[in-house]
Amino acid sequence: MADQAYDDRDGYIWMDGQFVPWRDTKVHVLTHAMHYASCVFEGERAYGGVIYASRRHSERLANSAKIMGFELPVSVDELEAIKAETLAKSGLENAYVRAFAWRGSEMMGVSAQSNSIHLAVAVWAWGDYFADKMKGIRMTHAMYRRPDPLTAPCHAKAAGLYMICTLSKHAAENEGYADALMLDYRGQVAEATGANIFFMRDGAIHTPTPDCFLNGITRQTAIKLAKARQIEVVERAIMPDELSTFDECFITGSAAEITPVAEIGEHTFKPGNMSEALVNDYADLVYRRIELPE
Ligand code: PMP
Repeated sequence: MADQAYDDRDGYIWMDGQFVPWRDTKVHVLTHAMHYASCVFEGERAYGGVIYASRRHSERLANSAKIMGFELPVSVDELEAIKAETLAKSGLENAYVRAFAWRGSEMMGVSAQSNSIHLAVAVWAWGDYFADKMKGIRMTHAMYRRPDPLTAPCHAKAAGLYMICTLSKHAAENEGYADALMLDYRGQVAEATGANIFFMRDGAIHTPTPDCFLNGITRQTAIKLAKARQIEVVERAIMPDELSTFDECFITGSAAEITPVAEIGEHTFKPGNMSEALVNDYADLVYRRIELPE
């Protein structure tokens, strides 16, 4: 499955009100979203047939659309039902769920005031990799910085914001790294290319304040899990010259879950007990063996 192109698979994608055979979910080349990045999306995971934090993802999609100046064509409740139905129809228990909305083809210029808004939900198989996580991934420094909130709508999960992520991730992979640490426009530590970042020192967790990047759903979960373990969590500005003072590091995201980091450029970290406890807590949570503490 991993090698199968995403436009050439069996099954159904929910698109604009109906289930469409996977290979037939086409958009025209003159689609505003493709030229002007007018698309918002979610990346979610289902565990044992249930999407983790589904409603929060649906609400974020609706909010991302609003930030981008359009409304989803369905309500959050309707989107919840569509995602559940698409997951059930896929027959998959452990899966990735991609819900996305975009501007269509009626106008083809910077202005797209009267373009129709389209919505689709696709679900594909995604295995469970909790077991291999503790080695820690190798990261390098990213070539691009997260933009100033006055430069881009940084709290929307919007396609356009991923241009600098793909470029930074490709550059990292070309040098043999798994991911890259992005600084923000002020030179502060921000996040990875598709995940938030945390550091540990002296029994406390430090993580950048999400004032110019996504306050990830997994990030918020990790903070609650840490606090439930009586671990102090400090959200603050972190400068890159502090990296050498931290012992452990991990990234968080719906796809990445909680993934320890072994290296960021010249800095090394040793995934330890605290990271391992949170990796396991997250697995227990998404498989509903524990509940998220308030
Ligand atoms: N930052 C970026 C740039 C991301 O793409 C993601 C993944 N959506 C995250 C952070 C983490 O967000 P979440 O935990 O909600 O998946």
